[in-house]
Amino acid sequence: MDGVTLLSDYKPYPFEIASVSLTFRLDPAATRVLATLDVTPRQPGADMVLQGEDLTLISLSLDGRALVPGDYLLDETGLTLPAAGLPAGPFRLQTEVEIAPAANTALEGLYMSNGMYCTQCEAEGFRHITFYPDRPDVMSRFHVRIESDLPVLLSNGNPVGQGPGWAEWDDPWPKPAYLFALVAGDLRATSGSFTTRSGRKVDLNIWVRPGDEDRCDFALGALARSMTWDEEAYGREYDLDLFNIVAVDDFNMGAMENKGLNIFNSKLVLASPETATDTDYERIEAVIAHEYFHNWTGNRITCRDWFQLCLKEGLTVYRDQSFTRDVRLGGLKRIEDVAALRARQFREDAGPLAHPPRPDRYKEINNFYTATVYEKGAEVVGMLASLLGPEGYRAALDLYFDRHDGQACTIEDWIKVFEDTSGRDLSQFKLWYTQAGTPKLTVTEAYENGTYTLEVSQTTPPTPGEEVKPPRHIPLAVGLLSPNGDEVVPTTVLELTEARQSFRFEGLAARPVPSLLRGFSAPVILDRATTPAEQAFLLAHDTDPFNRWEAGRTLARQTLMAMARGEGAQLDYLDAVGRLIADEEADPGFRAACLRLPGEDEIAAALFARGDTPDPDAIRAARRKLMKMLATRHGAALTRVYDSCAVTGPYSPDAGPAGRRALRLAVLALLTTEDGGARAAALFAEATNMTESIGALNLLVAEGKGQGQLAAFAARWSKDPLVMDKWRMAQGALTPPEDAAETVTRLGTAPEFDWKNPNRFRSLLGGFAANHAGFHRVDGAGYALYADWLLRLDPLNPQTAARMSTAFETWRRYDTTRQAHAKTALARIAATPGLSRDLAEMVGRLAG
Ligand SMILES: [Zn+2]
Repeated sequence: MDGVTLLSDYKPYPFEIASVSLTFRLDPAATRVLATLDVTPRQPGADMVLQGEDLTLISLSLDGRALVPGDYLLDETGLTLPAAGLPAGPFRLQTEVEIAPAANTALEGLYMSNGMYCTQCEAEGFRHITFYPDRPDVMSRFHVRIESDLPVLLSNGNPVGQGPGWAEWDDPWPKPAYLFALVAGDLRATSGSFTTRSGRKVDLNIWVRPGDEDRCDFALGALARSMTWDEEAYGREYDLDLFNIVAVDDFNMGAMENKGLNIFNSKLVLASPETATDTDYERIEAVIAHEYFHNWTGNRITCRDWFQLCLKEGLTVYRDQSFTRDVRLGGLKRIEDVAALRARQFREDAGPLAHPPRPDRYKEINNFYTATVYEKGAEVVGMLASLLGPEGYRAALDLYFDRHDGQACTIEDWIKVFEDTSGRDLSQFKLWYTQAGTPKLTVTEAYENGTYTLEVSQTTPPTPGEEVKPPRHIPLAVGLLSPNGDEVVPTTVLELTEARQSFRFEGLAARPVPSLLRGFSAPVILDRATTPAEQAFLLAHDTDPFNRWEAGRTLARQTLMAMARGEGAQLDYLDAVGRLIADEEADPGFRAACLRLPGEDEIAAALFARGDTPDPDAIRAARRKLMKMLATRHGAALTRVYDSCAVTGPYSPDAGPAGRRALRLAVLALLTTEDGGARAAALFAEATNMTESIGALNLLVAEGKGQGQLAAFAARWSKDPLVMDKWRMAQGALTPPEDAAETVTRLGTAPEFDWKNPNRFRSLLGGFAANHAGFHRVDGAGYALYADWLLRLDPLNPQTAARMSTAFETWRRYDTTRQAHAKTALARIAATPGLSRDLAEMVGRLAG
């Protein structure tokens, strides 16, 4: 196939590069990069292939002898040195190239953001900096010299020298090129230090542009908490004298774990109570932890090739989720993670972009930084942990670090450490890595003479390119409750390995109520005939916080599905919500999570899964109607909670006060459907933190109101683009559908909207993609507008354009009119000349 890379084609690189020395002479239009590679051939007769794109070759020499065209082959993908011209023993290769960072709008390789130089090399950005074997299994020691008049010059590792206009850095740990980083700019540090448990003192710096220094304290604290946690939970210490984090405004991703020099999207570093929400704080802490944890799971042990991306990402997401559960409220965090998994990964797995956590082919690797690789990858690690138990998991991880430190590894290496420490055969379990699709469990039950029998069958629907799906190895955590609400069988992990299996529980005094898939022990869809009364019972009594929430969620979803089909609301649900509102024993953050109704996309997916054609307008109307019914029925109790939950005193982003604010906003969302927005307007006027300010504004916008508040917000924050992103996101995501496309067009063409900045683009267009009824408008205006914007972005930043094209992954769910509009939009993108490889691959898969 054209341009396809296959896992089965992997071959080791035939040369070892023990060290590489780089000199950067920085200039916006003409940066010179001098590279010296110390090379040892490993395989006689092999050509040396070095990737390089958009580089101007100035000179090239081998052991000091200048090479001339004819000694090498140069094309648009790189440089090849034929075997015939290479020495049999070690040699030194030197290159000099010129690049233009200021013209680099793709934000891959070395580029400029508001006058500062920075890099992004994962996955294949280093080839835009110099000629090099740009693949993760080539690990070398990097020495870097930076020459520039800018005051702060940073690279990986430890600083080894500096003077006026230059600095040198040395990284003692061999690493692949994707972990290389360079930053140069006028930056200010917020500094601290950390002493590892073996006594190494590490200097910590958060670097930001002048004026942002007062928004770094939280990130610095989060870094120290992450370092402590990794020592305690995994026995992993930091291994350099210095850890730098730099905030950058123009960044394609969230953050990047470059060795000793993490580069972050500024929105994931900067936080103050006035500018960041509780959710932002939690996310900043989680991403700081995630990138820090990569120092061991990703950097010290890296991936052999990019097919193994989930080796580092699935594991590191699992680690950051565990960290957040430990430092905040564990039960609530699990609920949030599962809700996000279903919203993004289940949707991906059910559509044309479905792929395994470890795919076996790709055209453009940038298109595989997906919810499946990250979030499902984390679920797979979580299943290993629950199959082996905490001690078994820790023993396997200890062996993983001992055995593979300094190596570039595969999923096979990873599974082997679990097999070797547990003595178990995990070959069936491995299917989780190599096959796509979300398994469906169908459960039936029987009760007779004190014996309760669960019969579980599993099937996985076909996904593109994979028809046959053998049974998976699935940990199913189960508990049983007696009819009076006591737990009679505590959480037990059943192991499913066959298409159909039964499990018996004996000695029960009465027919129990099962609590299945506790803690969401596997990323599967559970199908079991149940009654609203039983769901309400579990919502009231289950000891597993996830399943309590799940019972309420299921009730809400079923009610909304029925209402979207024109049926009435279930009284069981309305009553259960009443009890929840009044339950002052329950954690406020948990009550908030239970009070939030399933989103419109979730309802559409559920209707589609049962064979209906979802109608976005009917879904939206049903959801709004149910909110209004809840407000009418429980108005007095909701008002009491709203009035009594106000958080006073200095702002803290901790789980306690954040949970109370979340509960108050969840209650306010219901009340706003009844009071004409009066309370939300009052909260907006008096809010002293961003959580309440943007929370109130969101509710007003969703009601088609809030023009005055939008203007006031813009007047206050117009100089702060990150805060204005929330304002744009609110309008893109929440403006009523009849005005949404027009609003997005107006905001997108305003002079202050810098659409080339990924954060700006994602806030407005990403918000719009989440505006379910607005994006899927029956006249096709949403699809057409979105296609226009992707085509505008693609020539400048293909990576972001391709990633955002996933808004189109659900078009087959809807009616033929909408499908026709979506097909037209996709065909128009596909037919555009000069489309990037990134977007072309995505559109092909989406339309296919
Ligand atoms: Zn990561």
